[in-house]
Amino acid sequence: MELPSHKTKIIATIGPASKQKEIIKKMIKAGMSVARINFSHGTFEEHTKTIELVRDAAEKLGRRVAILGDLPGLKMRVGKLKGDSITLRKGEKVVLTTRDVEGDETTIPVEFKDFPKLVSKGDTIYLSDGYIMLRVEEVRENEVECVVVNGGILFSHKGINIPKANLPIEAITPRDFEIIEFAIEHGVDAIGLSFVGSVYDVLKVKSFLEKKNADLFVIAKIERPDAVRNFDEILNAADGIMIARGDLGVEMPIEKLPIMQKQLIKKTNLAAKPVITATQMLVSMTTERIPKRAEVTDVANAILDGTDAVMLSEETAIGKYPVESVEMMAKIAKTTEEYRESLGYSRLRAWIDSLPKRSTIKEAITRSVIDALCAIDIKYILTPTRTGLTPRLISRFKPKQWILAFSSSERVCNNLAFSYGVYPFCMEENFNEKDIIMLVKGLGIVKEDDTVLLTEGRPIGKTVGTNTMRIFQIP
Ligand code: PGA
Ligand code: MN
Repeated sequence: MELPSHKTKIIATIGPASKQKEIIKKMIKAGMSVARINFSHGTFEEHTKTIELVRDAAEKLGRRVAILGDLPGLKMRVGKLKGDSITLRKGEKVVLTTRDVEGDETTIPVEFKDFPKLVSKGDTIYLSDGYIMLRVEEVRENEVECVVVNGGILFSHKGINIPKANLPIEAITPRDFEIIEFAIEHGVDAIGLSFVGSVYDVLKVKSFLEKKNADLFVIAKIERPDAVRNFDEILNAADGIMIARGDLGVEMPIEKLPIMQKQLIKKTNLAAKPVITATQMLVSMTTERIPKRAEVTDVANAILDGTDAVMLSEETAIGKYPVESVEMMAKIAKTTEEYRESLGYSRLRAWIDSLPKRSTIKEAITRSVIDALCAIDIKYILTPTRTGLTPRLISRFKPKQWILAFSSSERVCNNLAFSYGVYPFCMEENFNEKDIIMLVKGLGIVKEDDTVLLTEGRPIGKTVGTNTMRIFQIP
């Protein structure tokens, strides 16, 4: 068996352009480790089919692919438009209505009953990721009259953003909870919470999952200014973070995005949780075979910022080149990682020294792992794990070696699909060191005399957590 050519995880959205077994198989072969289902579109029936397709393709290829269900949250959208698109011209009047009508150049339906309550005269409303701008002229009971400030072509079901609104509504909607139940029933591994505003949104979902006895990974999407403001608490409660640059770029000044991305990635790395950089990474590949130079540079820079995963949205959901988009990501990742690896470990010294002194045993061991990697040539890092924390604590340092993780929990293995440089193996209950070595030797990953580093919790059989590190040659 061969390990992937790159350690950055690639998340690809499955949609009409990729919902076929052969395409999904090709995407997995090209390096997709998480399939994302966007619950903003499609029916439960369609999603059931997609989940089956992904599970089936992964099994046929002997690969582990996690499934991320992305919840719609309180994303407001325009409804159906006549002919599916209309052109809005600067200076013209247009009415946004909560009535269920087919939209045209003068009247646009909004799929959100409380919409008029959220705006007042003079506010700016953004449509279609901010490309179209309206100014509110008058608010009436069921409609909002606007004038077009920036025109453009508007398609059915495009998003609506009102950046200034301090939304007095729940971020996680009743519909989201229905989707979470569906996700639990269908064995989805992780859920993405859209428009999280505070830690309570995350905790509400966590306690719902607990009641259902489900342990889905909870990824908080940072796409509102409140989420940036409350980031530390949200990070503490969530299992992972998505920097959702699409909405974030409308909800706050777009020029702040690059630094925001760096800061959020750094904090999430420090917390040893996976962080995903999302949206428009290779968006021109939706229609072109070759991406823009700026996009390629964006992917590489996100990796150098320390992202665990990079995400494809419309590129693979509705684009012409879903497989090529994944291949392109994989190539950029491989080349960028090689560069970072060539810099050696000295880049980590300052970082490790800056970590808090009073810490856990696990922390201490994983810092020592990095020390050991500096001192001698080690081929692989082997980490048995119950919760996934030990491999994640090592993964945040982005070592050059693969972190081979071993767990008897399928869910833990799948959740490690989000973490940089971690390759998970699912084991039988009560596996031991011999089982691990037999497995990786049998797969042809490690060979006799290879030097490996193993972390473990001793005494074996007791659930003490990682407290030991050993370096030895494979017998
Ligand atoms: P979305 O989230 O694609 O569900 O809107 C990502 C983003 O906003 O960037
Ligand atoms: Mn979004």
